[in-house]
Formats: sequence, structure tokens, C-alpha cells
Amino acid sequence: VQSGADNSVEIPVQFWKTTFDHTAMPSPSPSLISRPSVADGLKRAEMLCLQHGKRFTPIRRKVLEILLKQGRSVKAYDLLDKIRHEQPNAAPPTVYRALDFLFEEGLIHRLDAINAWSACHDAGGTPNHVLIICTQCGVVTELEDAKLSRELAQKIKDAGFVPDHQETELRALCSRCHAQQNGHAH
Ligand SMILES: [Zn+2]
Ligand SMILES: [Zn+2]
Repeated sequence: VQSGADNSVEIPVQFWKTTFDHTAMPSPSPSLISRPSVADGLKRAEMLCLQHGKRFTPIRRKVLEILLKQGRSVKAYDLLDKIRHEQPNAAPPTVYRALDFLFEEGLIHRLDAINAWSACHDAGGTPNHVLIICTQCGVVTELEDAKLSRELAQKIKDAGFVPDHQETELRALCSRCHAQQNGHAH
């Protein structure tokens, strides 16, 4: 059942709010969003699809499961490889459509900085994430910092632009890759 693009739906996330309420933590912002387990991530996706009247088909589940299992970003062709390992007949368009669906439902992030995809750590939570992406190994950290997101959006408007993304991507090197690079250099 295709119900068309409907991105403006307010998400009733009371259940997850209580389970994943990062604002209740004592540490001030920016708050790090911890990565859910594969089981939790899938359960959450299932529930959000149910709430939105969307079908969490086997291929959609499989794509999300792989992204959750990887725990970092994955390029589309790598993802296709991994899926074909388990389902040799999986066709690229099917996988791409599944990615589009998961993206539209806010279950995954499209990382333009490194042209890859990653499972959202906080699906159904507040949007406007700040994503720190290691350009070397693709590991992703998600921050939820409403103040920073607001300020960035304001700066974009001040500069005469209209924000068209709900996330901000920051390219960086994770400490492990940084240490490795320094190790090679000396
Ligand atoms: Zn996210
Ligand atoms: Zn790294």
C-alpha cells in the first residue's frame, strides 16, 4: 500500500521518549546519543512503521539489520554485497528502494560527506541531529544538541539560505584512526 510522501506527520513517540529520554540525563548538552542494540533498533523500527501504517517488509528489515549490525556507516555497494551474501537474488533497485524507505521514515541517515548510509541511533526521537563522521573508517557519532541545531539553522537563514536538511554532518577523524595515522607518520 503506497500512501505517498507524508513527511509532515507528527510522530507520537511517548513510548520511546520514556525509554530513550536523553534530556533526563544529568550531563548538559551536547548529549551523545548512544547506539541501540540490533534488537532494540529493529523493534523500534517495527513500532514506528506500525504507527505510520507502513509495512516493515523483510528486505527493509534486512537492510536496517545490516546497518545496525555494522554499527557504522556502510556504502551502498557494500550493503548490496552483504545482502547478496544472504539473499543471492536481491536486486540492486530493491535494496535502493528499501534504503529510500528507511531514509524517509527517519530510520537511517544518508551521509553525503562519505556517500554512505548509517542506522539512526535515535529513530523516532528528536530530529536535527549533529552527526560526526569519521572520513577514514565511517564510524558515526550522533549528538542531540537543540541549541546548536537552532543556531546553525539561524546562521543558514541569516546567510540567505533555507535549511533543507535535518542533520548537520561534520567530517572528522575518530581518535582510533587519528592515532593510527600518527603511528604511520612517525
Ligand atoms: Zn539519528
Ligand atoms: Zn575512524
